Amino acid sequence: MTVLDRDPSTGGAWQHRWEALRLGDAHRVHDLPGMDELGITFETAPRDRPARDVVAEYYRRFEDHFRIQVRRPVEVASVRRQRDGRLLVDSEDLAAPLTAKAVVAAVGTWGAPRQPEVPGTDLFRGVQITTAAYRSAADFAGLRVAVVGGGTSAIGFVRELADAGAAPLWFTRKPVRFLEADATLGEDLGRESVRLQDEAARAGQELPSIVSTTGIPLTPRIRKLRDRGLLERRPMFVRLVTDGVVEQDGHTTVVDAIIWAMGFRADLAPFAALGVDARDGVEVDRGCAVRVPGLFLAGYGPQASTVSANRGARRIARDVGAYLTDGQWPPPQPRRVGASESITRA
Ligand SMILES: Cc1cc2nc3c(=O)[nH]c(=O)nc-3n(C[C@H](O)[C@H](O)[C@H](O)COP(=O)(O)OP(=O)(O)OC[C@H]3O[C@@H](n4cnc5c(N)ncnc54)[C@H](O)[C@@H]3O)c2cc1C
Repeated sequence: MTVLDRDPSTGGAWQHRWEALRLGDAHRVHDLPGMDELGITFETAPRDRPARDVVAEYYRRFEDHFRIQVRRPVEVASVRRQRDGRLLVDSEDLAAPLTAKAVVAAVGTWGAPRQPEVPGTDLFRGVQITTAAYRSAADFAGLRVAVVGGGTSAIGFVRELADAGAAPLWFTRKPVRFLEADATLGEDLGRESVRLQDEAARAGQELPSIVSTTGIPLTPRIRKLRDRGLLERRPMFVRLVTDGVVEQDGHTTVVDAIIWAMGFRADLAPFAALGVDARDGVEVDRGCAVRVPGLFLAGYGPQASTVSANRGARRIARDVGAYLTDGQWPPPQPRRVGASESITRA
């Protein structure tokens, strides 16, 4: 087995999160199976340090403890089918391509932030970034900033920008449903969200956004923000002009910067030669790319949160073993587990 990672260090996408993000600001981060052996848990991890540092450190200790060998940094450029049916994994960072009967793509989404095609995007003279490029609200102090997106990242940006002396304006495509933060309600909605993700993945459709199903729990922090009048949602603007955005009623609102916080897609560009494209949707059943024998997608759709480390990843590990042994694709399932994974508390 070979594990390749284009990042310089442990932590996956977490090592790139912005400095102000703390554990618990977004959702819950689940422990990796076996983390208790090290005497560490995210349940009691520090909330006063940047989440990126804590997660990177805990994962580094995990890799060290279990002696997991990861080759870094190695960026996979493409995965193609060879004539003999095996998969060819190519990277400029490798002396020679690797071949494998099975490839597990656990590539996450950080490299593929969503940015919609809005007319005039190339005309706008201000700053435009996506969530992945956001570093600090201080970069926007004194500026009028359009924050676009209806999820927890966008709301977090609104709060940080307001506190840093910027003037955020919040744009969303659809009205946002705020929910009283109630655990039972959250779990039900989380299950429903996972079910819809699973349904879309099995049908090979583009994955729906999580927030469109679950709504946003009104945590004390978000309630405070709403009470400050900072979550007055504006309907998505229709186009950009050089110095601002044209709103749906036709008037132009001047902004200095736009932060596109519209979530992410699976970062599947290296798998294009196998006919896999996250924008079209990929047919994925229990972590197997149904139409691409040997390709497993870990962390895709219903598995897209840290809880997948406990459930989806374990199943994929078992199925890889079965596939390598008998070559049956997709690997036969002992029983239908379906959408039992829950990302509610993720
Ligand atoms: C702002 C934000 C907050 C979030 N908060 C939470 C939360 O609180 N709880 C939670 O459970 N989830 C959260 N998530 C979801 C998050 O995606 C997961 O927590 C977790 O990072 C997913 O793990 P992963 O291993 O699937 O992907 P990632 O953490 O993205 O790791 C993917 C790895 O694959 C590597 N890689 C990608 N492409 C290549 C390539 N071509 N070649 C080589 N290596 C490659 C990357 O370098 C990276 O190391 C959040 C997401 C965002 C955007």
